Amino acid sequence: MKSDSETSERIKDAKQGEVLVGIGVSPGVVIGPVLVVVAKVIQVVERDIPLEEIEAEISKFEDALIETRRQIQEIQENLGVRTVKGDAGIFDAHLMVLDDATFISSVISGIKTKKKNVELIVKEAADGYAGALASVEDNYIRERIADIRDVIRRIIRNLSGDTAPSREELQHKHIIVARDLAPSETASLRKDMVIGFATDLGSPTSHTAVMARALEIPAIVGLREITEKVATGDEVLIDGNKGIVIFRPTPKQLEEYGRVAEARKNIERGLTSLKSEPAETADGHRIVLSANIGQASEVESVIKYGAQGVGLFRTEYLYLSKGTIVSEEEQAEVYKKVAATLAPRPVIIRTLDLGGDKFLPGAELPAETNPFLGCRSIRLSLLQPKHFKGQLRAILRASVHGNVKIMYPMISSAGEVVRANELLEEAKGELAAMGVPFQKDIEVGAMVEIPAAALTADVIAKHVKFFSLGTNDLIQYTIAVDRGNERVAYLYEPTHPAVLKLIQMTIDAGHRNGIWVGVCGEMAADPLMTPLLLGMGVDELSVSSAVVPLVKDAVRCVRHSGAKELAKIALSCKSAVEVLSHCRRMMNEVAPEILELV
Ligand code: PEP
Ligand code: MG
Repeated sequence: MKSDSETSERIKDAKQGEVLVGIGVSPGVVIGPVLVVVAKVIQVVERDIPLEEIEAEISKFEDALIETRRQIQEIQENLGVRTVKGDAGIFDAHLMVLDDATFISSVISGIKTKKKNVELIVKEAADGYAGALASVEDNYIRERIADIRDVIRRIIRNLSGDTAPSREELQHKHIIVARDLAPSETASLRKDMVIGFATDLGSPTSHTAVMARALEIPAIVGLREITEKVATGDEVLIDGNKGIVIFRPTPKQLEEYGRVAEARKNIERGLTSLKSEPAETADGHRIVLSANIGQASEVESVIKYGAQGVGLFRTEYLYLSKGTIVSEEEQAEVYKKVAATLAPRPVIIRTLDLGGDKFLPGAELPAETNPFLGCRSIRLSLLQPKHFKGQLRAILRASVHGNVKIMYPMISSAGEVVRANELLEEAKGELAAMGVPFQKDIEVGAMVEIPAAALTADVIAKHVKFFSLGTNDLIQYTIAVDRGNERVAYLYEPTHPAVLKLIQMTIDAGHRNGIWVGVCGEMAADPLMTPLLLGMGVDELSVSSAVVPLVKDAVRCVRHSGAKELAKIALSCKSAVEVLSHCRRMMNEVAPEILELV
């Protein structure tokens, strides 16, 4: 990385065994030497340009734009081959900067009026561009500043004849540590030489996170000060599952991780062979094991890890990653791609779940004192029927390309389902009038994630074909504990007796009414909870793709009769801790190796 970045040799202050905590955005555990990558400040010298050379300076700029476009397209193609198409799309933002008429004309007129060298004018224009965006209080927009700086660096490098950083420069395996990583830096790194990422900045939606997941490289973002604490050559362990970095792990930590890693490897080895096996208990009771996804590019993982379909497609991520409303056309394309790639596997597309903590920049919604109890999710959709019907039409259009189902989030009463279904019928009518084909009897389900829905599940069940328990929200609304507030995290207990009662009520009501009931909240992804949920009677579990093998293993180790016994005991327990200890005991009996991992 020498031309674009330099390794850092500052005195660092981490102590052996020190644990830094960030956000794990791509699972896996690796240990190795660090390469600290610090973006080099672009040095641009100022030169006067004589009048007769102005045109040549402008041509130089145009040539640099062409070359930059060629390089970005090359990276896109490369990524398209190595990973999945959606991630190569990140560079569309770069291409948009190259096409931006305001940017191009400001550089050309700057060269003409100031009579200075093109590198200086480009840098000034870029600073103005990024400066305007920096004042916007929105994470998505701020992440776009990184895109602009990245592409401008590339233009200036091309203007000055500097070459792009070579992928050959990393000669042995490293964990990349950086303040943040520009998408093109991430994409240019040699996958076989990079075994992990750890960055100061970033969120689960940042480009590094998206790419790390697509490349299946363990990654942790949001570590705040890792670049201050470690130096190139230091050995660190990164655990992308837990979101922690251990600086020069002590023998004890290594031993502990060695055991966990060994257990993981053993399980993973065994799990590979489970891929085509059913999610069936030792005494022959089958359930469906599906995957949760947030974007189309994740379908590869759905297949790779042997999920039986998609149990939850969080469509709001399309909006959040784009930072704006996504047209019916664009949505239909994405849903079609997912449905067609996974056909005949079912794909449950959840309608928009915006609001709460998921806000769309520029949506101009009135500020709310208590957004989690406010106009979020299906409430917002029903208030904006025109937009909601656009999403329903997009899903319907995709429905002929696979096995698509619709799911409404945050249902609190049967009335909301009835109204949503009316709009669905209108959407069908509109498509039919246009002669657009769709699956006429497309199945509709409701998420049960509000206690009111669980308590009236019998009534709601009459209007849907399935329920999916959103335990993330169900727990927060039942115990009145904000799922994102670490100060009350100790109260956030999936095994709280009140939560279990609501889950059981929902499953029973669903079955009484002849519909299936799944769980798509994080509770489904904890293998300790697998026997309990099986025993309570769930028909489907939906978890992130990479967790599918582990949960399948837990299903296959347990006997349904034993699970039912466990559920009976759990429902009579007086505390969450008591329930948890019974779950541990059961796992210890049937699959003690799984206990090592949780
Ligand atoms: C849930 O609440 O459990 C759920 C799956 O939905 P989300 O996490 O998207 O709110
Ligand atoms: Mg939810």
